[in-house]
Amino acid sequence: MKIFETLQRRRQWTEEEQMILDQVRRLCAETIAPNAERYDHSGEFPWENIKALNALGANMMFVPEAYGGAPVSFRLYLEVVKTISAACASTGIIYATNFHGMKPLIDKGNDEQRARLLPRIAEGGLGALAITEPNAGSDATGMKTTFTPDGDDIVVQGGKIFITNGDVADLILLFGKWSGIDDPKKAISVLIFEKGTPGFEVIRLEKKMGHHASSTASIAFNECRVPRANLIGKPGDGLPILLASLNKSRPSVAAHALGIARAAFGDMVGYMNDRVQSGRRIAEFQGNQFMLADLATDLAMAENWLDYVASLIEAGVEDFGLEASMAKMRASDLAMRIATEAVQMYGGYGYCSDYRVERLMRDAKITQIWEGTNQIHRQLIGRSFVRK
Ligand SMILES: Cc1cc2nc3c(=O)[nH]c(=O)nc-3n(C[C@H](O)[C@H](O)[C@H](O)COP(=O)(O)OP(=O)(O)OC[C@H]3O[C@@H](n4cnc5c(N)ncnc54)[C@H](O)[C@@H]3O)c2cc1C
Repeated sequence: MKIFETLQRRRQWTEEEQMILDQVRRLCAETIAPNAERYDHSGEFPWENIKALNALGANMMFVPEAYGGAPVSFRLYLEVVKTISAACASTGIIYATNFHGMKPLIDKGNDEQRARLLPRIAEGGLGALAITEPNAGSDATGMKTTFTPDGDDIVVQGGKIFITNGDVADLILLFGKWSGIDDPKKAISVLIFEKGTPGFEVIRLEKKMGHHASSTASIAFNECRVPRANLIGKPGDGLPILLASLNKSRPSVAAHALGIARAAFGDMVGYMNDRVQSGRRIAEFQGNQFMLADLATDLAMAENWLDYVASLIEAGVEDFGLEASMAKMRASDLAMRIATEAVQMYGGYGYCSDYRVERLMRDAKITQIWEGTNQIHRQLIGRSFVRK
């Protein structure tokens, strides 16, 4: 593990950033990690973890100061996501989803919307991002939810599936199609849907392979009236906002995946140095060392690539979509690879739930599927080489 300690030490943080990281690490060690197994088994929403994060002002880290936040650098935000996710992947994705849902409001909302809505999030409210529908997954343009203008309101009709935080969110960034615009791409629009709006219904919560403590909801909008003031941009502005918001959430899900990868790698190395077979620790077998060497190298590269993507975003670079896709794809494939190898190195114990590598492997799988499946990312990256 020496190399990772060295890399960690060499990463530069300001005194204030280091203080924030130390606080987050302490909270993870004292509360979030010890709770993870219990929440995984019970499937309950991890309110205790969320309250503890809110006591630390975790949402304030991405909300502008003018709206009650205390923003930190994007690199630090990603490190916080990684740290929380290493302790409990469910809690990590709940926290990151607040950012994924609210970042488009921060970037594209108007001042009135930001001043009215963002303080709720800064104070610890939960956010959600609602794109997916039964027939609109990888191809979001197939969505059927409609937004119909009616006086000062927009009437929302339709439903979404697989929505992280969907049942508990205070604010949902909701995508739908503007009635009367025929072109499916030009019709996509986006608004903020507030908790408590009549006609909102939670249809079901999914039973999942992993991330048991993070809720994944099917939600319905039955003639819900949303004030027109909650529309972000103009009717039809949704698709560019969707694409821009995914570009920023993808580094965040990459950080989440790297948290799982780090946890699995650490557990695996620890176990391999304890477990003795044929008179030797299993870390002493050269075949196993080669596996560790490959995984450690890929992990170090992926972590550094994510820092690079963060630096692009902080520098105001606009077209970082491919770099973000590379980060998401590689980090999530690596999380799955490392978690799978970790289970293998634990032998039969790895398959049993007494050790957390079993949970980490279940938690890792979805990272290859959400925020654009890795096939879609390969397609995005691959087709950039085709001459126009
Ligand atoms: C736990 C969980 C949480 C989620 N959270 C959210 C959320 O908060 N908000 C939200 O909006 N959505 C969320 N999702 C939805 C998630 O983003 C989608 O499941 C994902 O985008 C894939 O869509 P799909 O499931 O419809 O699969 P499909 O799009 O039907 O894909 C099925 C398979 O076909 C492949 N495929 C599809 N198109 C192509 C292509 N062009 N080329 C090659 N292969 C292709 C895919 O890679 C995949 O392997 C969540 C899902 C889960 C399970």
